[in-house]
Amino acid sequence: MFDRPIDLGSARILISNDDGINAPGLRLLEKVARQLCPDVWVVAPEQEQSGASHSLTLRRPLRIRKIRPRRFAVDGTPTDCVLLAIKSIMRGKPPTLVLSGINAGGNFGEDITYSGTVAAAMEATLLEVPAVALSQHYDRNNGIKWEAAMRYAPELLRRLTAAPWPRNTLVNVNFPDVPPDRVKGIEVTRQGRRIIGDNLTERVDPRGVPYYWIGPMRDDFPNEPGTDIAAVRRGAVSVTPIFLDLTNVPALRALGELFA
Ligand code: MN
Repeated sequence: MFDRPIDLGSARILISNDDGINAPGLRLLEKVARQLCPDVWVVAPEQEQSGASHSLTLRRPLRIRKIRPRRFAVDGTPTDCVLLAIKSIMRGKPPTLVLSGINAGGNFGEDITYSGTVAAAMEATLLEVPAVALSQHYDRNNGIKWEAAMRYAPELLRRLTAAPWPRNTLVNVNFPDVPPDRVKGIEVTRQGRRIIGDNLTERVDPRGVPYYWIGPMRDDFPNEPGTDIAAVRRGAVSVTPIFLDLTNVPALRALGELFA
């Protein structure tokens, strides 16, 4: 696996996302990537896939649409995109780094398990390519501002790639919803917790049949210091290492004794 730094001079960067091939955040991430190296490829979903999680399309064919050299859309999920990019589109010379985003909206706490943005980075990590998921938090009342991400992403990626990359690990980055000059540094965090499931809307359609709408996710979550949520809420860039071995190691012994 990878535990070595990435040489950006000779790097080949693949970009994907879950907001789709036409998303503004994707174009901005391309700009960021081009500041790091010239060899930038984009393989992104045709349609928005937010909340797609790590789903893989198995029951229908997938089509790849070439838009121009090094830019492709796939009629599938973020996971499909990264898999097809690494194993088919770029198989002659696979990427050395995968960037996913920049997502319109933060991916904190449990979001990590629902997020298509994070899933694209997961798929890359499973295919042994180092990957970073990037998300820009914003307040729905004020609209999204990308300046904090644009100011901080290039330097953050330079520093991440210069160090040995932890094995089996993706890096989940969230940018705070503040002007760049007011960003309170970069904080390394652990996954926090959000309030989930209390954002269901139940209404009745014009034919009298009830329907349900999930979300948007509530932002009035509790703050625990040291978490991704707390860091972004206080105005810092949050950087969380996410480990893809989901085993609860401390529980192994207790469970082992239970079944001895
Ligand atoms: Mn999204």
